[in-house]
Amino acid sequence: MKKETSVFNFGRNYEPVDILAKVKVKNAGKPKFNFLDGPVTANAPLCLHHGWGRTLKDAYNRYNSLIGKEVDYVWGFDAQGMWVEVEVEKLLGLNNKKEIAQYGVDKFTEKCIERVNFFKNRQTEQSKLFEQLGDWEHSYITNSDKNITSIWHFLKVCNDKKMLKQSYKTMPWCPRCGTSLSEHEMSGSYKERTHKAVFVKAKLIGRDERILVWTTTPWTLAANMAIAINPEFTYCKCQVKSDANLLIVCEKQIKVLRDDLVKVVEKVKGSDLVGLTYEPFLPLQKQQFEHKIVPWDQVDEIDGSGAVHIAPGCGAEDFALGTKLNMAPFIIPVGENGAFYDDFEWLAGLSTVECEPMVFDQLSKNNALYYHHDYTHNYPFCWRCKTDVIFRLVAGYDIATDGIRKDLLKAADTVHWTPDFMGKSMRQWLTDMGDWNISRRRFYGLPLPFYPCEKCGHLNVIDSKEELRARAIDPSKVDALPHLHRPYIDEIQITCEKCHAPVSRVTDVGDCWLDAGIAPFSTKPKGQFKAEMVLEMKEQIRLWFYAQLFMSVVLTGEAPYKNVVGYSTIVDEDGKKFSKTGPRKVYIEDVVKQYGADVLRYAFASANPTLDMRFGDSIAEDAKRRLLAIWNAYVFYTTYALVDHPDVKNYQPENLTPIDAWLVQLTNQYIQATREAYDQFKIHQVVKLTDDFVEDISNFYIRVNRRRYWKNGEDQDKMNAYWCLFQALRSVVIVITPLVPSYAQYLWQNCFGEGEEPVMLANYPTQLKIKSKVNLLEPVNFVKKVISLGLSLRAENQIAIKQPLSKVYIKTNQVDTVTMFAAIIQDQLNVKQVEIVTDDEKFNVAYLTVNFKKAGAILKNRVQELKNALQNSKQMTEYVAAFDAGEKINITGFDPLTPDLFERKLAPRSGFVITAAGDVTVVLDTQITDDLMLEGIARELIRSIQLERMNQKLNITDRIIVDFKTADKKTYAAACAHQPRIMREVLATEMHVTEGTGENEIHIRLA
Ligand SMILES: [Zn+2]
Ligand SMILES: [Zn+2]
Repeated sequence: MKKETSVFNFGRNYEPVDILAKVKVKNAGKPKFNFLDGPVTANAPLCLHHGWGRTLKDAYNRYNSLIGKEVDYVWGFDAQGMWVEVEVEKLLGLNNKKEIAQYGVDKFTEKCIERVNFFKNRQTEQSKLFEQLGDWEHSYITNSDKNITSIWHFLKVCNDKKMLKQSYKTMPWCPRCGTSLSEHEMSGSYKERTHKAVFVKAKLIGRDERILVWTTTPWTLAANMAIAINPEFTYCKCQVKSDANLLIVCEKQIKVLRDDLVKVVEKVKGSDLVGLTYEPFLPLQKQQFEHKIVPWDQVDEIDGSGAVHIAPGCGAEDFALGTKLNMAPFIIPVGENGAFYDDFEWLAGLSTVECEPMVFDQLSKNNALYYHHDYTHNYPFCWRCKTDVIFRLVAGYDIATDGIRKDLLKAADTVHWTPDFMGKSMRQWLTDMGDWNISRRRFYGLPLPFYPCEKCGHLNVIDSKEELRARAIDPSKVDALPHLHRPYIDEIQITCEKCHAPVSRVTDVGDCWLDAGIAPFSTKPKGQFKAEMVLEMKEQIRLWFYAQLFMSVVLTGEAPYKNVVGYSTIVDEDGKKFSKTGPRKVYIEDVVKQYGADVLRYAFASANPTLDMRFGDSIAEDAKRRLLAIWNAYVFYTTYALVDHPDVKNYQPENLTPIDAWLVQLTNQYIQATREAYDQFKIHQVVKLTDDFVEDISNFYIRVNRRRYWKNGEDQDKMNAYWCLFQALRSVVIVITPLVPSYAQYLWQNCFGEGEEPVMLANYPTQLKIKSKVNLLEPVNFVKKVISLGLSLRAENQIAIKQPLSKVYIKTNQVDTVTMFAAIIQDQLNVKQVEIVTDDEKFNVAYLTVNFKKAGAILKNRVQELKNALQNSKQMTEYVAAFDAGEKINITGFDPLTPDLFERKLAPRSGFVITAAGDVTVVLDTQITDDLMLEGIARELIRSIQLERMNQKLNITDRIIVDFKTADKKTYAAACAHQPRIMREVLATEMHVTEGTGENEIHIRLA
């Protein structure tokens, strides 16, 4: 066999290349495990953090193959949308949508397709390197015509159900990307930012008063349409140093006037201000209309002045208020690129950031500027390009959700969520979420199949490519489409189904979550949309899990999945996130090179997916250590099996010893428990069960049975030992195959025979059919406890394990167990005899100490004197006898004392050491006779000769000749007295013991 760590997959997978084809043949026609892969964005190489999900998905698929289910091993790639555009723009050095249009939308689209194809291939190769089994030729990709037209069909159904609506609303808007962001795209994209906030004054018409207003977005003053105050608040009219007019500010915020305040002249109620008119803040044609103070109960007294500037074209709440108060038409100051429209005069073409100095300047000239200050707040940014978002009134397409909210909740309740709090998160999200805004003003994405007729107002929605062709004014253009993307599809006009006028498509593309959300319907055969399970990061609740649930409920009324499994984030050992960008980017191939794919996969499989996973050298080392524990057990087995070639596969065990029967029971328990853990989607428990089982095999079964494999010949006892160990290890290798397929295959082919089918073609192990009358799992745990107590006694008292002792006494009521396993206890504790006792009195001496509480009350300051008298007394035996008889105790210098002034305690007699835990007491007789001493020396000598055999790399069957020279009389005596045993254990045919001078000398050579 190979040397330890080189068997881990550092790029060499031990699985046969045609394994998938063989697996498919084996399980063809069997019940299906219908898995759906959430498509990975084909926009960058796979990194370390992808490894976790890939390991778990691959493992569940492989497990289902092992239990005889048909699995398709199809993986998905997400291949269109804004995030591809952003990267291609960077690559081409384009800065905005105008430059893309100049470059050519057709060329730009082809570049996007080129990019996703490149990364689809790259990610495929990386996945193979990570041992992910895949039908890579049949991977699905979301930019395919099939995927696109499946979404068209969905949108058509939405339209038929009257769920599709065109709407104006204030949307978070990225000025760089030139598109809106949907509600679920905004979650988590907030950071602390410092902006310029400003207090401005509005001159009230016909009064020598100005009202103070506060805003954090000065550019929106160009779109001001009203000032809102709270009619319930008290406002103060204040005389100030800086202005001849009185300043109006709400009472609670009067502090914002700072030391400018001279005095409060008058107090009025907010309702008294309602209806007053004011001069616009900025000199613009657009601002030439009557501005009024309006009432609004949402105005608070926390920030600002208690008066709020209202710009319905720039904020969601403003829009709501403006709509309620019929302020339309609203002023929309900036275009898609975040720059002022041309009819905004001196602001035309400026961005919302660039315009700030000019706005302040104009406010100043107008005596409208009070002061500005830095203001730090949590502000949203675009998740793609990190630009600060602005809020903008946008026309777009929404899917109304209120109508199906109940159905969504009902469907979510039919799903089994792991961990179960994800189900609650989904419920919460479904309860709170607003309409789904699906349109984006971009280029490379799903072309929305919407053809609004300008003549009659009817919205035509196309269902399929066939329908597009049938209704196209020039069907040959449909036939000539290279694929269903812009700009090609924009060329096609159709006939309005109502008025027969020619209609063009809207230029919008779709939200990318439509692309991934349709996967259950675009990638699975008809009627098989419902996945047995999906598995992604927990954050996908609001994203992919949501999108597919929504689309499936619209199309079928049912959830698209039975089981949803979520996992958390990978952080480094300091708790920092590994992300796909920036300096913490770690490519899959680099970590495979560093740790080996098997080690990484075992580390990922070990992590509890409910919690964030820390990853670093020590985590990888720990996984490797646990894999090597399996390796060491296999090496033990094969070392002997290569000598004896036991035919374990055709062997029928009989007359199993209790310890063999125990291993069979433990193996059966392991097989059942791992299967349950897999079925409950708890892979980390499979790992824990495996690590524990291997520990039991290596550190108990092998340790106590080692000799049975050494002995010559092939009797039933030896074959039983081989068979039991073989079955245990064979189970382990199959159980870990889904987790570490290459490593498992290596162990399989090297341990379990040539000509054997690959382990992926094995069946998951089933219960070994060996009848046992009694359950041995608990009794053996007890035996392990006794042995561990005995060994710790030896360690505490510094008695070497090679030194035989005469006896161990065990006080317990588990007499049958100790009797059954006495030989093992005797061997493991290296004692000549095991004796069960009913009490431990004879190993102890009783003595009395002072009960300070009681004695103190009576003897007062003589208590210490009594303690000293007891400690130095030679009459303790008499005192104890009196105490036991309940009589008064006579101590010199004291009146006779009642027994309750004392406590009875026990100390080990000399020659014994004692320990106890729970209901078991273990006593070692520590007297070492001359015979025992010589035997101990002989055993040390055996160990030294064995070490020498290892140093010389001898085969375990090699016979040797030993020359041993010693100056020590005892050692000489031991070597002579135990020569036959030494020779037997070290496989010596001759042994020469001589007296020498100086250090002991051991020489061995082949016989
Ligand atoms: Zn952006
Ligand atoms: Zn029409």
